[in-house]
Amino acid sequence: MATKEEENTVFDVEAANVLTKELRDVFASGKTRSYEWRISQLKSIVKMCDEHEEDIVDALRQDLSKPQLESIVYELTMVKNSCTLAIKELKHWMMPEKAKTSLTTFPSSAEIVSEPLGAVLIISAWNYPFLLSMDPLIGAIAAGNAMVLKPSEVAPATSSLLAKLLPEYLDCSSIKVVEGAVSETSALLEQKWDKIFYTGNGRVGRIVMAAAAKHLTPVVLELGGKSPVVVDSGIDIQIATRRIIVGKWGCNNGQACISPDYIITTKDCAEKLVDSLKKELEAFYGKNPLESKDLSRIVNSNHFSRLTKLLDEDKVSGKIVYGGERDEANLRIAPTILLGVPQNSLIMKEEIFGPLLPILTVSKIEDSFDIIKSGTKPLAAYLFTNNKKLKEQFLMSVSAGGVVINDTTLHLAVHSVPFGGVGESGMGSYHGKFSFDAFTHKKAVVYRSFVGDASVRYPPYTLGKLRL
Ligand code: NAD
Repeated sequence: MATKEEENTVFDVEAANVLTKELRDVFASGKTRSYEWRISQLKSIVKMCDEHEEDIVDALRQDLSKPQLESIVYELTMVKNSCTLAIKELKHWMMPEKAKTSLTTFPSSAEIVSEPLGAVLIISAWNYPFLLSMDPLIGAIAAGNAMVLKPSEVAPATSSLLAKLLPEYLDCSSIKVVEGAVSETSALLEQKWDKIFYTGNGRVGRIVMAAAAKHLTPVVLELGGKSPVVVDSGIDIQIATRRIIVGKWGCNNGQACISPDYIITTKDCAEKLVDSLKKELEAFYGKNPLESKDLSRIVNSNHFSRLTKLLDEDKVSGKIVYGGERDEANLRIAPTILLGVPQNSLIMKEEIFGPLLPILTVSKIEDSFDIIKSGTKPLAAYLFTNNKKLKEQFLMSVSAGGVVINDTTLHLAVHSVPFGGVGESGMGSYHGKFSFDAFTHKKAVVYRSFVGDASVRYPPYTLGKLRL
């Protein structure tokens, strides 16, 4: 039987109800709307990152064996950069935007006012557990909302660190952290929110959207998908290979939403590409990559079995041309390349989200477009080519959340472009000003005075008035 203390800590629908009421009250007080409040919270996040860098790196190491450099570059620095940009631009972002008016409303003026939405819910995922919690939170703060963050239970060390640090550094009456898994998230999803920002897989994305629909709550869904890499001939194969490797294995060992999921190249190119991948992978991770300190481990045994199942399927197991080694006790899988896997294999049907990289071959490179289009729209698509016409064709015919030509994953670091999916890879976007916009209502405001009061729109209606 649970003790009195344990009973008190259960986070159920009733507790979620109390929490949202508190947030609504604090939002109604106007506290979170002020420029000063927003700036002070953003500055505190930078301070928290600086003062707890070691703790954050350590939590990421516990959750994923994430290499220190990856944690600093892809999680901490990205969070600090988002804050610094918001601090620098906030005044400008908050300012009403002048808008043109028309003859119909003459004389008048108009503007677009950025209004905070209210109480928002952020549900985050495990693979970049610090970044994916803090980055949307920064947008919600910059936009002047009250909020709850629900970090992923699959990265428990980072989740509990966030639950400890955020109340120490941020205004805990307006920014709350709820830790937990399905039942806690479900309790939160029962509530009426002004926006739900969810990062994770599409199955849960559907659950989130259905819950939001009950209250007509808008959602941002940051989902995933199979992000393809098309490799054309006539390119610098060594540079291309290195850029594919850092986007795949250098990003959390393939456990990243925009990691290359599979490669398509021509039959002529495939051999050269495989040779180059083998050479560069060995140069980066050594002869025994299972022991490399520069590769994250697989997050947990569920994901480990999911990945090994993909590798062990009969149709696929004979296609491994590099890697394939695994260490179940330490949840490690070596970078693995597969050549010529059939399109109807499991590995080509679901998002891999791990260190396995199948290569498909086509007779001519343009055939790759049909393969990509036969699946759902990916979160990212990459093309390596020097052919201008092919670039144009790729951009015209492949729909994806984002595209990078001659590199992988880099659009994530460009704050002036939106980051988000399309179709089954998600809806809505964030990063930079787009994060502010994601948590803002654009209120249309038209100003009129009592000067000039054309009678055209007043009854009685006579066509003669139109000819005036
Ligand atoms: P996850 O298991 O951490 O789940 C995400 C969140 O959903 C967690 O907070 C979890 O508690 C919650 N959740 C799980 N089941 C739920 C349920 N039944 N009801 C309500 N809430 C529930 O993460 P994941 O889904 O394994 O993440 C991997 C997926 O996320 C991949 O598809 C990846 O591509 C995608 N992803 C997308 C982005 C992006 O920015 N677009 C970033 C990271 C990951």
